[in-house]
Order: sequence, then structure tokens, then C-alpha cells
Amino acid sequence: MNNFKGKILLVDDRVENLELLFSILTKAGYEVRRAINGSSALMGVKSVHPDLILLDINMPDMNGYEVCRQLKKDSQHQDIPVIFISALDDGLDKMKAFSAGGVDYITKPFEMMEVLSRIENHMQIKAARTKLKDLNIELEKRVAERTLELTAATQALEQENIERRKAQAMLEHMAWHDPLTDLPNRTWLMQQLQDSIAKAKQETNYQFAVLFLDCDRFKVINDSLGHMVGDRLLVEIAHRLMNSLPSNATLARFGGDEFIVILKAIERVDDAQQLAQKLQSALASPFNIELHEMFVSASIGIVLGNFEVRHPEDLVRNADIAMYRAKALGKARYYVFNTDLYNNAQKRLQLETDLRRAIERKEFFLQYQPIVSLKSGEIEGFEALVRWNHPKRGLISPIDFVPVAEETGLIVPLGYWILEEACRQFQDLKTDLETTATSEVSQKSLSLKISVNLSAKQFSQPGLIDTIDEIFEKTDFDSKNLNLEITESVLMDDPQSNNIILKALKDRHIQLTIDDFGTGYSSLSYLHRFSVDALKIDRSFICRLAPSGDGLRIVEAMTSMAQSLGIMVVAEGVETSEQILQLQQLGCDYAQGYWFAKPLDSEAAKQLLLSCQTFNI
Ligand code: C2E
Ligand code: CA
Ligand code: CA
Repeated sequence: MNNFKGKILLVDDRVENLELLFSILTKAGYEVRRAINGSSALMGVKSVHPDLILLDINMPDMNGYEVCRQLKKDSQHQDIPVIFISALDDGLDKMKAFSAGGVDYITKPFEMMEVLSRIENHMQIKAARTKLKDLNIELEKRVAERTLELTAATQALEQENIERRKAQAMLEHMAWHDPLTDLPNRTWLMQQLQDSIAKAKQETNYQFAVLFLDCDRFKVINDSLGHMVGDRLLVEIAHRLMNSLPSNATLARFGGDEFIVILKAIERVDDAQQLAQKLQSALASPFNIELHEMFVSASIGIVLGNFEVRHPEDLVRNADIAMYRAKALGKARYYVFNTDLYNNAQKRLQLETDLRRAIERKEFFLQYQPIVSLKSGEIEGFEALVRWNHPKRGLISPIDFVPVAEETGLIVPLGYWILEEACRQFQDLKTDLETTATSEVSQKSLSLKISVNLSAKQFSQPGLIDTIDEIFEKTDFDSKNLNLEITESVLMDDPQSNNIILKALKDRHIQLTIDDFGTGYSSLSYLHRFSVDALKIDRSFICRLAPSGDGLRIVEAMTSMAQSLGIMVVAEGVETSEQILQLQQLGCDYAQGYWFAKPLDSEAAKQLLLSCQTFNI
């Protein structure tokens, strides 16, 4: 048997034709189905699915053209090649045959070889077509798949793009905003100021204002309630400030508890002042955070910006200076910057710089002011007072530079220098007196006291006692000749650790005097608790001792209380003999002041000791 070559539907109304072709084709290896008229052919097609149809043209019920046309209408079968069969004398209309959809024709009587080769050709063409169609379908499928993949990839890319843009936007936001309050940050602010300055340079009438706002005593809240509460409070503050801004203002967080507002396009400084008031009243009602009710006030520095401004930093600095002024004036207020303020700040900055160098360059020296017994008139000791001989400005008063030294911490090295210098000069004086003075004077010098002022900063310095010991050792100084003057506030600060220091001082027989007594807390109870040796009544009370002044009663009260506690009383700033008399009557122990002597350099102090041991009082 031949190999199966395909299925053929044979349609002819004449049986002999059918039989003949059937046997030939079957032998040739085709599977052949037969139909004897057009309608059974159309039905047979559906069940057989032939690869080729041999179709007689002349049939009684429906001719071959019609059958072919119907077949071609049906999408399922239109691809099946149809070869028409016709007797030569039937009058084959070739045009009609092709237009009905036939691919070929064969004529009777059949030339068998020709029939087979035509059939084979068309079978091959059909197979090739089918393959092509399959390939096309496959191709289309692949195209569709690729398209799908591409669409998915494009979508993924778009999504990625969106994500990237989001991340980018977030990064940008972070670069310009403060994470806690989400307000614009310092970088942003500086940029805005730069822009405002640029605008003012273009339009010379353009004015704007910078308001530097700093919360008052915010540190206390942070220290007492913790940073979490502090942070939440800052967020609330930011919120309230934000809600009080006019449309031409922008708010930024500058750092910590500092905020800055830029008020654009203003006519007068009044506009900025009004805004400052508004911001302050926005903070006036209490804040409630985690069951804590808190009151917050702010100090605001205002500076105007116009075409004259050069750098954003200048604006911020000047607003900051004005803000500090507002704080110095009592906080919870605003202050408008002026050039005097700037000059003062400059001076102050210069002083700070000079002060740093002054320690290295040894521009300081000490003067000594005698402290005199009001009973005997004898010199009891000296208070060492620091002086600064500025290379350009000459003598600068400690009233001007000691506070700066305290704020900057320079008081610590300076204070140690003072103590060492005082101890050394005192030791020199003693040796001097031993060789030159009478034995009486020399003897007296053994019990002389040198008083040295110790600032709060120094007192809380770790290693204070060790350094004092070192100084004693270095200068061969006897510790019981030293008296330290501290202010009341020092004792109130940290009673616990103070007690340790005070005990160490007592162990060394160093005496302790409360300086400027009456100007601070003036609590006598702690004088007792801390076993203070003496208190120095502030000069402001002594100068009110005059008959019309109210100082007398106050000094009297202080003296009698001190006496009851066994504490010595020193009066400072004594300038008249009346004051001396009054102080004597009140039972005051010692006095110091211009009436006896102004602060003297070490040589003059020595001469005073040698010449006049006793004041005539
Ligand atoms: P203080 O400790 O109360 O010093 C007394 C001040 O009163 C000194 O001013 C002294 O010259 C002045 N004074 C003395 N007698 C009279 C008087 O009769 N009338 C008037 N009007 N004044 C008199 P000075 O030397 O200018 O010192 C001022 C302040 O500077 C001192 O006040 C003290 O707080 C600080 N100070 C001075 N020297 C030192 C120091 O060595 N270390 C520290 N930490 N502070 C110092
Ligand atoms: Ca003093
Ligand atoms: Ca004083």
C-alpha cells in the first residue's frame, strides 16, 4: 500500500466516473470519499474535511460552479482547493470555473498521469498554504506575545519612572525641609533670602523683612520634660506660627527652637512689627502636651532687607543680634535691628577675640584692695582684683570683660592664672616682709588673708580642687591664707556637688566669703548649711547708709542675722567716715573701700603694709 497522501472528496453524478477515479486515486495513496451530487458534497465536506475536492460541473441538482461558490462562502472550507471535472464537450467555462473559486480543471476522458500530477500539485500547494498559514498564525501569536511582553515592560518602566520621580521628589523635599516640623529648613531659607536680595537689587524700592524668632527658656522644657515633649512642642509652635502668617510671609525652621520668617514686599518696618506682635500673641495661650500645660514666649529680632544688603548671612546675623537684644531687655518682645546694635556686637566680638589672646600675651595684672578690721583699724587682708591692660584700649574694667570671660568659658584659665598670681605675689610679699620689716609687721603678715574672686563657672569646673592644690604647691602658698569670694547663686546651683567641694576647701582651711550679699537670693539659711565664714554686704546697700537712705535697716538686719549664725560681716564700697561709724555701731566686722584705699598694685600694697599698719578709725 502506498503512503497516505491526503483526503480527497470526489463529486460526480455518474457512477462510472466515480468508480474509475476512486480506484485510481485510492491506488495512488489517497483516501477518497465520494458524493453523487452537490448537496451531499456540501454536507460531506463538513464531516470529511478533505484536503482537495474533485468536482464535476455538470450535475442535475446543483452544478459544480454553484457547489464551489457555496463552499467558498464558508470560512472553514474556503481554503480547500477545488478542481473541476468536465467532459470536453460539456462546454467548460474556464472563466466561470476560476471565478467560482476553482484552482484547476481536468477534462474527460481522463489522462490519468495528468490527473494525478495536477492533484499532487494542488495538494502540495494546499499543504504549503496551510503551512504558511500556520506559520503566519504562529508569527502573529509570537508578535502578539512580544507585544504583550513589550507592553508589560513599558508599564514596568513607567512604574519605575514614577517611583524614581517619587524618590527624587522625596529627596528634594528632604533637602529643603526640616524633618521634625516639615517646615522649610535653613538651606531653603538662605536661598530665599538670596532671591529676595536679588529682587531688591533689581527694584530699588523693594523692601522685605527678616524676623528671627527664638523661644524663651526652651531649654528648661527640654531639660525638665524631655526631648520628646520638647519636639512635640516645637511642632505645635511651628503650627501656630504657620497659621498666623499673611500670604506674603514664609516660615522656616532655622534650628533648635529658632524660626525665621521672611516678610516680602513691605512698605514700612511697621508691617514687620505688627507681624511680630501677631506671632507673639499666637504663642500666648498655653500648650497642652501629654498632660503638661506649658507657656511659651518668644523673643523676636527684626531686620529690614533692601538693595543695600549684600549677603543673606548678614541679614540672619543682624536679626539674631536684634533678637538677643530683645532677650536682654526681658524676653517675650521684639526688637528692630539698628547699626549701633551691630557695632556693639562687633565690639563685643572683638573683645572676645582680644580676651583669648590676652591670656597668652599676659596682658592681665592684679591689684589689691585692703580689707580692714572695723574694731582695730588693722589691715586684715587684701582682695585681689584683676586688671586688663589692653595693648590698644588701655585699661579695661573687669566689669566689662569678666562677664564676657564667663560666657565664653575663658574665665576658667583666667581664674586659675589669677589665683596663681595672687598666691605667688602674696608669698613674695611675705618673704619680703620677713627680711625688711619689723618683726611685728612680719609676724602680722602670717595671718593676712588674700581674697580671690571665684566665678560660678570656675566653681563647677571638674578638677577645681586638684588645680588649687597644684597652685599651692607651685607657689609654696599656705592654704589658710586664702579666702575665696563666691556669689550666692553658686551655692544654690547644685547643692549636692557643692557640698563636696566646700568640704574639700574646709579641709584645706580655705575661707569662704559670700560676695555681693543682698543682690541675689539672700537666704541666710544656706549660709549656715554651707558653713560660710563671712558675707560681704554689697556696695549698693553701703552707699544707702546715709541718714536719708533705707540701707541702714537692711544692713542692720543682715548683720544681726549673720552674727547669730557666727558669720563675719564685711562691708564693701565704704567711702565715708560716716559709713564707717554706722557700720561700727551695727557691729560690722570688716570694711573695704576707697576711704581706706583704692585697689593698689602689689608694690603699693606692700608699702601700705609697711607704712601704716593701722587705720585711724
Ligand atoms: P567685686 O568682687 O564686688 O569687687 C569689688 C569692686 O568694687 C571692685 O571693682 C572695686 O574696685 C570696687 N570698689 C572697691 N571699693 C570701692 C568704693 O569705695 N567705691 C566704689 N564705687 N567701688 C569700690 P572692680 O575691680 O572694677 O571689679 C568689679 C567686679 O569685677 C568685681 O566685683 C568682680 O565681680 C569682678 N572681678 C574683679 N576681679 C575679679 C577676679 O579676679 N576674678 C573674678 N572672677 N571676678 C573679678
Ligand atoms: Ca569680690
Ligand atoms: Ca562685691
